[in-house]
Amino acid sequence: MIPAAFDYYRPKDMDGVLSILEEHGDDARVMAGGHSLIPMMKLRMADVPHLIDLQDVGGMSDIEIGGDAISIGAMVTQADIIDHGPLAEAAPILREAALQIADPQVRYMGTVGGNVANGDPGNDMPGLMQCLDAVFTVVGRGGPRDIPARDFYEAAYMTAREDDEVLTKVTLPMPRGGYAYEKQKRKIGDYATAAAAVQIVKEGDTCASAAIAMTNLSDTPIYSEAAGAALVGTSLDDAALKAALAAMLGDIDPTEDNRGPVAFKNHVAGVILRRAIERAWSRA
Ligand code: FAD
Repeated sequence: MIPAAFDYYRPKDMDGVLSILEEHGDDARVMAGGHSLIPMMKLRMADVPHLIDLQDVGGMSDIEIGGDAISIGAMVTQADIIDHGPLAEAAPILREAALQIADPQVRYMGTVGGNVANGDPGNDMPGLMQCLDAVFTVVGRGGPRDIPARDFYEAAYMTAREDDEVLTKVTLPMPRGGYAYEKQKRKIGDYATAAAAVQIVKEGDTCASAAIAMTNLSDTPIYSEAAGAALVGTSLDDAALKAALAAMLGDIDPTEDNRGPVAFKNHVAGVILRRAIERAWSRA
């Protein structure tokens, strides 16, 4: 399909972006890679009379790895994440997850900022960022503010970012311990039927901490504190695993769609989560 007519803007700096957002309010939207927004416009599911392309706005394409934290600019693409050696070493779960998003063509354009700002429950990075306890920085006329990923998602396509704010970067504490990103999809390039991000810290034979989030099983990503807590203090025996799975199943709320009925999705969620926990534990 062909999108409705729109005006196209390509400002050179953030001030230009914010001015257009201020002038047109709800009628204006920023575009990063365009690989979620343009399909929505073509399907007439998004009406965007004023489209603001972020490609020429500098300062949002860096990956910085410090001692305690990693900062990723909003315009960093999924392909950049995959190709960045030091990042793959510092936070290998990012590369493992990015490799399971769409296909290479989409990953060359799709950005980290677009993926997390979009608010689509099918996007892989929101749950991943919740697992990693990331913080999103957004900027508006009032200056920058930080929003924890775990507080960012309110409902499908509804987030804590205001319409006149732009997400500029994602910051995460340096991940520790074992990790796994597991995703079940119908075919290569598809969105998840269920996906799980798990990060586990082990002390001796005991689980010292566990962070777990799942994707596409509710209208937001689900970070389950209870699922992580069920593993802490255990050596991941079968009872602990079952308790974590039960906690997560209590937190998700899948709906029937072309990926299957609710019972099937709950089943897949359990299988994927068990697999992710076991792999993260084996790497911890
Ligand atoms: P855009 O499409 O440009 O923007 C998406 C939304 O975010 C828009 O509402 C836009 O206004 C907003 N936005 C973008 N950047 C900012 C910013 N800096 N600040 C504030 N708002 C912003 N994704 C997955 O996670 N997993 C998949 O398996 C997957 N499969 C796909 C398969 C296909 C065939 C396609 C076409 C896409 C798929 N995607 C998938 C989506 C892809 O990863 C998108 O590119 C990504 O979700 C959005 O990134 P983008 O840079 O293209 O954002």
